[in-house]
Amino acid sequence: MKFIVKLFPEITIKSRPVRKRLIQRLGTNLDVMLRRVDEGIRVKTTWDRIDVHCGDGNEVLRDEVVSVLSRTPGIQAFLEVREFPLVDFHDAYERTRDAYAELLKGRTFKVRVKRSGKHDFTSVEMERYIGGGLNQHTEAAGVDVHNPDLYVDVEIQQDRLFIVTERHPGLGGFPLGTQEPVLSLISGGFDSVVASYMTMRRGCKTHFVFFNLGGHAHEIGVKQVALYLWQKYGSSARVKFITVPFEEVVGEILQSVHHSHMGVILKRMMLRAAERVADFMKIDALVTGESIAQVSSQTLPNLAIIDQVTKKLVIRPLVTMDKQEIVDLSKSIGTFEFAKGMPEYCGVISDRPTTRAKLDRVLEEEGHFDYEVLEQALKRVQVIAIDDIVEDVNAHATVEALTRVGENQIIVDIRANHEQEKKPLNMPGCEILSIPFFKLGTAAEQFDADKEYLLYCEKGVMSQMQAHQLQERGYSNVKVYRPEGA
Ligand code: ATP
Ligand code: MG
Repeated sequence: MKFIVKLFPEITIKSRPVRKRLIQRLGTNLDVMLRRVDEGIRVKTTWDRIDVHCGDGNEVLRDEVVSVLSRTPGIQAFLEVREFPLVDFHDAYERTRDAYAELLKGRTFKVRVKRSGKHDFTSVEMERYIGGGLNQHTEAAGVDVHNPDLYVDVEIQQDRLFIVTERHPGLGGFPLGTQEPVLSLISGGFDSVVASYMTMRRGCKTHFVFFNLGGHAHEIGVKQVALYLWQKYGSSARVKFITVPFEEVVGEILQSVHHSHMGVILKRMMLRAAERVADFMKIDALVTGESIAQVSSQTLPNLAIIDQVTKKLVIRPLVTMDKQEIVDLSKSIGTFEFAKGMPEYCGVISDRPTTRAKLDRVLEEEGHFDYEVLEQALKRVQVIAIDDIVEDVNAHATVEALTRVGENQIIVDIRANHEQEKKPLNMPGCEILSIPFFKLGTAAEQFDADKEYLLYCEKGVMSQMQAHQLQERGYSNVKVYRPEGA
């Protein structure tokens, strides 16, 4: 089985050396990720495309390769092809007919031939030959060059013939790691997660910084969604997840700052701290999920005041997007359910916040703030490699995780439906409820107080977070099930 990977068009308009560097990086990224799928997969990088070969006839493998290619930044589209030696027009027609006859039944079509290399025929001549043959010898509804139901795509590269059996859209963007790294302020809501995705897609290795305002479940939730993003779109490069304990900073703001200015000043404190972390990591740019006027601290005057505390470039990928567009994007990248279920933790709920902060007033308010508190927070920063999140969450778990199921205990499988179907829990004799994590909040209301409910998910991270949240809501009979060796 073979795939032809087409480059994101912005790569192809770069100068020769830049283009070469970008393509090579894309090749390496694919190599890293596809080797995890199967050792035997081969990635071949050329000037204008990347070829991926994997073993024939293995549908599971094929699906996994399609999945990797469709979420790797830097790819415009990729074609699934059958490869043959180029013999002559008639042979090419017969091969095309074998691949397309079924699909063509009752539909109009147009043949497209793309050619590279030297040949003594033109692409149009070949299109006519194959098209004529298909029109006569299949049950197609005829040729329609303007608005066909189906395109029949054929590629010729030197002496090889490729029949395209499927065309998949890619993610676009630049290969990860070809642009400089950024540090994304992630709070786990819809916005900052989508913003992080956007810088990843644009080719920036995106590290995460989280300001912990005091909710343990919130911290686990943010780690969980960062891990998801990274595994899905960015796992060719290792990144860091940094937690800054911010409870005391919030406490100090509550004591020393007028309520109307708390929101803006909290953001300024976050940027100050993020700048220090970024300095240490030699990163020039910070990312936030803010967009004009979405909330009171995000009006243009306030954003301008917030920006003044840092010399770093502050990138706001969502700045002109509407909330609905952001939510739609979060659905399409798969982070919607995470964000929806994120425990809200807002330490600074200010009453009638200013929408038009003035610098002199802000400085006056900050004059009462004890910066030693911020320094102390920065001394207690925790840095972990993102791929260690699972171990980290389990090591710091606060909800008891049981390795066995006893009497009066019910397993609750909280994985998404498609994951449950893919890897069903096989536990004869146990009662198992299937409640995807985003339905757990309401489903828990029906729980029987005399029984114990053990939440199960694949890595033990989501179950830990959800159990923690439910316990905080008073469900002390909710725990985690984590089988030995999982
Ligand atoms: P989000 O949907 O990303 O939570 P929001 O709409 O709730 O954002 P704010 O709470 O004003 O907006 O936060 C604005 C931005 O500041 C966020 O998008 C994020 O980049 C950053 N931010 C806010 N809280 C935190 C936090 N606890 N840790 C890290 N970054 C944060
Ligand atoms: Mg928020």
